[in-house]
Amino acid sequence: MTTTYERARSAELLERAERVMPGGVSSPVRAYRAVGGHPPFIEAGEGCRVRDVDGRSYVDLVCSWGPLIAGHAHPEVVRAIAEQAGRGTSYGAPTPLEAELAATISEAVPSVEMLRFVSSGTEAAMSAVRLARGATGRAKVLKFAGCYHGHSDALLAKAGSGLATLGLPGSAGVTPGAAADTITVAYNDLEAVRVAAGAAPLAAILVEPYAGNMGCVPPDPGFLEGLREICDRTGALLVFDEVITGFRVARGGAQERSGIRADLTCFGKVIGGGLPVGAYGGSRTLMSLVAPLGPVYQAGTLSGNPLAMTAGLATLRLLDVAAYARLEAIGALLEAGLVRAARAAGAAVRVQRIASLLTLFFTDRPVRNEDDAMTSDRERFAAFHRAMLARGVMLPPSQFECWFVSLAHDEAAIEEIVAAARASLEES
Ligand SMILES: *Cc1c(COP(=O)(O)O)cnc(C)c1O
Repeated sequence: MTTTYERARSAELLERAERVMPGGVSSPVRAYRAVGGHPPFIEAGEGCRVRDVDGRSYVDLVCSWGPLIAGHAHPEVVRAIAEQAGRGTSYGAPTPLEAELAATISEAVPSVEMLRFVSSGTEAAMSAVRLARGATGRAKVLKFAGCYHGHSDALLAKAGSGLATLGLPGSAGVTPGAAADTITVAYNDLEAVRVAAGAAPLAAILVEPYAGNMGCVPPDPGFLEGLREICDRTGALLVFDEVITGFRVARGGAQERSGIRADLTCFGKVIGGGLPVGAYGGSRTLMSLVAPLGPVYQAGTLSGNPLAMTAGLATLRLLDVAAYARLEAIGALLEAGLVRAARAAGAAVRVQRIASLLTLFFTDRPVRNEDDAMTSDRERFAAFHRAMLARGVMLPPSQFECWFVSLAHDEAAIEEIVAAARASLEES
């Protein structure tokens, strides 16, 4: 593997970017600090593949970290965006597209009777917390170590994702005041939740119902049911952060899959089809507290942006019953292939999957929470990542992320990934 870092154009562009942007990137994990080497600079994507500025092509398992459930540049999504762009890109006034996307989401997720669009998952979670506090008159929120809910001050504690990747417990610049009302306990630890909910009145319990930001970690049987019960008993609102799982693990997201109804739900990623979007929603009663109907203020210049709305609508139109069956089948094929590859290579790894989300952990124990995830051998993951990249497979550059499979990943692409994984596991 001598070719990994012979990406001259990417290296040159990174140097240039590093002079004017921290790490040369717009989001930290993209800088490849956890895996070493230079990130390829991407100039085009089509289907399940991306091409870098050095002309190398990769099977892409990042898929923009989740939004691209239909793959890159899906013709119908591209057409919808192009047609809307020709009519203008933003008006700062209501559009028919917003109401249509809102109705589409509400139909798929019945607990979401009303919703508000924002421009990112961060804003969605931040606004949901504000609403939960406004609705309950309580300050404290409970979250789980390893769950990421965006980078708002209150939610950065033990937030998995890029923080875990960089080994940071939290962020500088967050005041003790902003963090003081956030309680963090281990994922899948219902007893800890019971204790915390008994010790102080909680405005909300925030959870990734199927965790994706410490790698792919499913809830134990009864965990989500237990959270629902604790919320019902104590008056805390149950907030499902479905920024990854929404329209990903089922059309109705984690709520359809688990049968548990959330009080508030956060969306992002898939509902924007690759353009910047987030949303939060819940019952008519709760959402009627949001301005202009109620006292909880929240606004956005580009919220409900027509390009994003139309990309979201075009993407959600592709997600029928057959699409989810396909995502499950292709995800299962990849899982089985990786398990076989690991066995053949004699590698002690663990593959965890939910639908089209999957993580290969370099640990031999089941990963039920962030501490388990941290037992992964990150150096081996880094070597594996470099070896895969050299073989033309682009994985998320962190042990603590999900691989995202899309409708554009065909059997041939899965075979390529599995063959690359076997060879890479043998050498890393
Ligand atoms: C990505 C993500 C967010 C943040 O969304 P951004 O659009 O990156 O701000 C929030 N919650 C979860 C579960 C996420 O995966």
